[in-house]
Amino acid sequence: MDSDKRLFGTNGIRGIPNQDLSTEFAMDIGKAIGTYFDGGIVIGRDTRSTGEMIKSSVIAGILSTGNSVTDLGILPTPAIQYYAKTHGIYGVIITASHNPPMYNGIKAISNDGTELDRKDEIKIEEIYWQRNFKKVEWNRIGNYSYVNDAIDLYINSVIKKVDADAIEKRRFRVLADPGNGAAYFSTPYLLSKLGCSVVTLNANPDGKFTSRNAEPKPENLGSLIDLMKTGKFDLGIAHDGDADRAVFIDEAGNFIDGDKSLSLIVRNVAKKGDKVVTPISSSDAILEICREKGAELIRTRVGAPVVARAMIENSAIIGGEENGGVIYGKHQYCRDGAMTISLMLESMARSGRKISELISELPQYYMEKLQIERKIDWEIIKKNLVKSVKADETDGVKIEEKNGWVLIRPSGTENIIRIYGESKDRKAAEEIAHRYYGIIDRMQ
Ligand code: MG
Repeated sequence: MDSDKRLFGTNGIRGIPNQDLSTEFAMDIGKAIGTYFDGGIVIGRDTRSTGEMIKSSVIAGILSTGNSVTDLGILPTPAIQYYAKTHGIYGVIITASHNPPMYNGIKAISNDGTELDRKDEIKIEEIYWQRNFKKVEWNRIGNYSYVNDAIDLYINSVIKKVDADAIEKRRFRVLADPGNGAAYFSTPYLLSKLGCSVVTLNANPDGKFTSRNAEPKPENLGSLIDLMKTGKFDLGIAHDGDADRAVFIDEAGNFIDGDKSLSLIVRNVAKKGDKVVTPISSSDAILEICREKGAELIRTRVGAPVVARAMIENSAIIGGEENGGVIYGKHQYCRDGAMTISLMLESMARSGRKISELISELPQYYMEKLQIERKIDWEIIKKNLVKSVKADETDGVKIEEKNGWVLIRPSGTENIIRIYGESKDRKAAEEIAHRYYGIIDRMQ
């Protein structure tokens, strides 16, 4: 096999256990991680039914290298990241986030809790391919311990970062749907601690995700939306499988787009002189809010680790993507579902308004998203597009139009070209996106 073959994708290693993700493979990845890192490794997982098998295999591999393992059990990805950060140790997360239930994955994190740099992943991959594993004598095999206070540590820290008294006073009625995933315990616990009256849906851990798909998109949240329509709750919340993301439903049962919830949180958090980081694909609503607050918006390539890295480099206060993954610099530099919820409740508490009112007061923009699904030579398209206009090439090609903008970018993993058109006018957003769809379609 190629010694330079890539194992870690954009979200770690993903596969179907006992097919492409075998116990032997997971153990060897554990050995490679244990060989590369020193000083103990923390591990945790989501609720997937294959999680214990994969986790045990990784643990065995790590222990054989002489590294100790601290097992945190089942908990959200950001809770594992927070433990790694506060203890200054490297970590492994067994999760496939929002993927279908047959998948699982192995993700390594740095000793500051952030996602691993590509250069560290390459080193781990080299050790794996060369089978250059450290193997200690029997009396130096690593120590295993189970720790059960990681959720408390995480939730208490989240609560300290918001105005908990203001939230508590409102006695919000919240309907929480962790989707049978990693936040099945921690999110109801957080909400209770914030003085909310909590009703849960899909809060039993079910690693086969039999109730709903783990991706918190409106089409997967029918039960939550229907229950919100009863008018008995102030806010509806849903997570993805590993709870690094949280999305919201308003008190009337309307799904809130991630760009809008992020805008609302930025409006609540950002102050004059602060820095805010979002990918190039994010709505101009956030730009408008930053201008209103006197904050600076920095735009990066698409991807949460890129946003997090830019936040660290710029000491930014807040950042995130439109899929519900908000990153709060005062807590930790990674997407964080519980932090997102707490900041949203704080926005509602401080304003004294309903969530739907706060959303309707945001600058209104419309985004039309299209995609061309076939193999197209991106370099040719790019050359043609930037030939006659000034374009931003941070990620793909972004072109300013007189009443909006268009972003055209190729998918990193599939034969897809994505086209986003945004404008304050819905028809203009559609026109921009469809016009560029036609231009690209005619190019090849
Ligand atoms: Mg996730």
